[in-house]
Amino acid sequence: MTGFDGQTVLVTGGTSGIGAATAVLLADRGAEVLALGLPPVDLPLHARISQVRQDITDRPRLTALIAGLPRLDHLVNCAGISRDRAEYDLEVWDRVLAVNLTAAMAAAEAARPGLGATGGTIVNVSSMFAFAGSRDRPAYSASKGAIGQLTRSLAAEYAGEGIRVNAVAPGFIRTPLARGVLGDPAAAGTVLGRIPLGRIGEPREVAEVIAFLCSPAAGYVTGAVLPVDGGYLAT
Ligand code: NAD
Repeated sequence: MTGFDGQTVLVTGGTSGIGAATAVLLADRGAEVLALGLPPVDLPLHARISQVRQDITDRPRLTALIAGLPRLDHLVNCAGISRDRAEYDLEVWDRVLAVNLTAAMAAAEAARPGLGATGGTIVNVSSMFAFAGSRDRPAYSASKGAIGQLTRSLAAEYAGEGIRVNAVAPGFIRTPLARGVLGDPAAAGTVLGRIPLGRIGEPREVAEVIAFLCSPAAGYVTGAVLPVDGGYLAT
């Protein structure tokens, strides 16, 4: 037994970065994982991970896919995009909010009956930009702040159905999403100088915290937004 045997997990954005690391970790611990993402989804990740190419803003298809699952124990809302200063264009703004926020709500509501049947959990993926604004990514920052409030709201709403809802707020993690900042030596140096642990985080380190929040060890934790940031927010 490794903790998640016989359980089914849906990870949006489970085909890359933090979501893929979470999918692999939970599959390693016995879960059957459905990983949703946009291309590329051609790299096999694990024998117990099924990768499905699915735009999570296609609400009818997302809802039908979730409602059709024979069992659901955990939903990890990890898919996310950042479009930097292009987010001042309101069409881009709408797209970022649709992926990062509205799809998480749609997935949670679609998953609610299944999670209620298993006493399941939801883990949303917020960001340190939930706690401070970002002039260079206004939609991303707004969406991640809203994910924190959505997490608290759904924790209260779903508690009576036995569903816990939490979030992680990663700092700078080595994934394709952070490539822009981490690929710029000046920006990366500034970031590193502000991280007390003195290094960038790895996707697996966020996945471990997501797995903890899914597990019975976190049985009395709901409505929490937990930074996983090497101490960035502490300074
Ligand atoms: P990533 O780019 O490696 O992965 C993003 C995933 O989201 C991919 O699987 C992609 O296919 C999926 N995705 C994007 N748009 C989608 C859509 N419309 N439909 C379905 N899937 C879609 O990025 P990551 O760094 O692993 O990011 C994962 C989450 O972590 C995001 O919510 C991001 O905001 C958050 N986060 C990342 C960092 C970091 O430093 N990397 C920091 C804080 C928060």
